[in-house]
Amino acid sequence: MKAALPVHSRRSLLRIGGALAGATLATPALARMTPPPRDVLVLGAGMAGLTAALALLRRGHRVTILEHQDRVGGRVLSLPLPDGMASEAGAGHFRGNMPWVLAYARHFGLPLIALNDGLPRYLVNGRVADAADLAAWPWPLHPQERRVSLSSTLNRYLGIHGLDTLTVLDPRWPDPWTIERLSSLSLSDLLRQAGASEAYVALLGAHAGPYTLASAALRIIPGLAYHFGDQNCYRILGGNERLPRALAAAIGPERIVLGDPVAAIDQGAGGSRSPHDPAVCSAETPWSPPFRRASLRTSRCGRPGRRPRRACSPGRCGATR
Ligand SMILES: Cc1cc2nc3c(=O)[nH]c(=O)nc-3n(C[C@H](O)[C@H](O)[C@H](O)COP(=O)(O)OP(=O)(O)OC[C@H]3O[C@@H](n4cnc5c(N)ncnc54)[C@H](O)[C@@H]3O)c2cc1C
Repeated sequence: MKAALPVHSRRSLLRIGGALAGATLATPALARMTPPPRDVLVLGAGMAGLTAALALLRRGHRVTILEHQDRVGGRVLSLPLPDGMASEAGAGHFRGNMPWVLAYARHFGLPLIALNDGLPRYLVNGRVADAADLAAWPWPLHPQERRVSLSSTLNRYLGIHGLDTLTVLDPRWPDPWTIERLSSLSLSDLLRQAGASEAYVALLGAHAGPYTLASAALRIIPGLAYHFGDQNCYRILGGNERLPRALAAAIGPERIVLGDPVAAIDQGAGGSRSPHDPAVCSAETPWSPPFRRASLRTSRCGRPGRRPRRACSPGRCGATR
């Protein structure tokens, strides 16, 4: 029987990355609780795999990362431009409400560029105004909605419902009580119940892009919170891909095998051939439960459990940072 592993989303990366990064800063008391070193395979050298691998290494485990592509970074892909700048083909920016991404960037000394995508121009009910010119907004907003950014007001309305941006970005959200309480509400219902004016509802609808006012509130609140909860937007100077490359350099190129797709993980009875104990999967790979010692098939290594041949060269994983 084969089962697909979950792929980490941006939300889960926020949490998992946070938890693992937190582990790297373990206090002596926590370090004493660390289990004995083990051999761990990490599948996928995207942000989830790299942050997991670094955290495991710092806890004393031996790690090997197997990566399908000839590069690290996964969906973080920067295309260099002639003037030293970069065009982002994958993850384009991160926000102030992604504290662990910011912490990693700071840790590796990567310079940030501040972007501002929070100041669009609105066309609502036949009137146009700039988000930057809050004082002159022509719409009949409630007094408490005036001279305040749309996102601040959204946070206030979420707060009235007992929600905040950090809570709703937790993968465990929503709890059963919240599901029961909010499941029949659309976004516009939620705003109106919190006291929003019709003008504010229309403005948020104009801002919300793929989220419509009729969308089920429970489904879109995390996306809204992510995009509006914090309007401070950043990008890494020279390309966001510098972050996974810096992680790869810290992990060590000799621990990263590139161009070696994992075809399957066999955890059946014959699964004791792998020299590795547990595996961390950040990529979708056919997987046979239950979890035991894994025997591993990679397309190039051929034989299960064999030590992978191609180590990552410095140029490809950023060890020359
Ligand atoms: C166009 C685009 C724009 C985006 N914009 C943003 C943004 O602005 N802000 C933001 O925060 N996020 C953004 N994202 C999302 C962000 O890029 C991802 O959430 C994040 O990079 C996912 O990291 P990950 O490690 O979970 O997965 P991935 O980056 O997908 O990493 C998985 C890795 O596993 C490897 N792999 C897959 N199968 C196998 C296999 N069988 N064997 C070995 N290796 C395998 C893959 O090659 C890959 O390197 C964007 C994504 C895209 C595509």
